Amino acid sequence: MLERATAAGVAGMAVCGTSPSDWAQVFQCSEAGSTGGLAVFQGLEVSPQIYLGIGLHPWFVPADGGINSKEWKDSFQTLEACLAEDKTEAAMLWLGETGLDFSERFTNRIEQEECFAAHLDLARELDRTVTVHCVQAWGRMVEILREHPAPNVMLHAYSGSEELIPELIKLNGWFSFGEAVMNPKAKRARAAVIAVPDDRLLIETDSDGEPGKLIDVARAVAELRGVPVEEIAELTFNNAQTLFVSAVESFNHGIH
Ligand SMILES: [Zn+2]
Repeated sequence: MLERATAAGVAGMAVCGTSPSDWAQVFQCSEAGSTGGLAVFQGLEVSPQIYLGIGLHPWFVPADGGINSKEWKDSFQTLEACLAEDKTEAAMLWLGETGLDFSERFTNRIEQEECFAAHLDLARELDRTVTVHCVQAWGRMVEILREHPAPNVMLHAYSGSEELIPELIKLNGWFSFGEAVMNPKAKRARAAVIAVPDDRLLIETDSDGEPGKLIDVARAVAELRGVPVEEIAELTFNNAQTLFVSAVESFNHGIH
């Protein structure tokens, strides 16, 4: 997978954990030398580089079931401990995924909100980027971001409206678009991708885990915005650098 991504010109990747059961894999990724966070920290010439994060995804926030509404707090404490311990080689650079998913099948809305707010507060405390998943919960998303401001909020697979973008920018939002923009039926995402200012635009391949397809997303975004694909590649690369690589640099300089 990494070879295919490199061949397609992908220069870096952000990998995230979503629940305690997969955080271990993220740590392994960071310990794998040439394929992990260590390479970043040791300044090795590795392409693509991988930037790591862990979080408690809204799908995996335990619902209370009327028994114990604070069960998510145990997992969150583990997460805090991982971040605190990890100050040397295998540092987790960002927090996420976290967020809100109010699709009907989820019954843990209250716990999702509490857990999301806790991630935002921790991101502010540690000065980390936080990657956010939001489905059918934009009203509460904005309210919680107002109450719990975080330094950089990366809204992955942005599915909110075009109109909401200026408000989310005030709340330090960045907007990432994936393969949905390639689908002519995805009218909302395609309208939003045109409205995002250059310095807040990102692209991703989340849905099928094949980073090499990033170039197809870049092409679709370029076409919608009416600019050359090289321009989209350059500006989204620079924006990703700002979000993820500058975190490595400030970490290396002992700021965190
Ligand atoms: Zn997500």
